[in-house]
Amino acid sequence: MSKKPEQITIGEELHICPDCGYEDGFHTSYVRQAKEQCKIILICPSCHARFDPDWVVCV
Ligand SMILES: [Zn+2]
Repeated sequence: MSKKPEQITIGEELHICPDCGYEDGFHTSYVRQAKEQCKIILICPSCHARFDPDWVVCV
């Protein structure tokens, strides 16, 4: 889990893992960056590659 999530951009849609080709979308996880701010990390359910679409949520 020390590997930095790979940056990913979303075109028309995003449901295929660029690493392994899994086609059914991603799990999501949340990494707290500040007291009321988390970053969303996408995780491939098949190969467990982690991707960072640069989404931030206030929670
Ligand atoms: Zn994958």
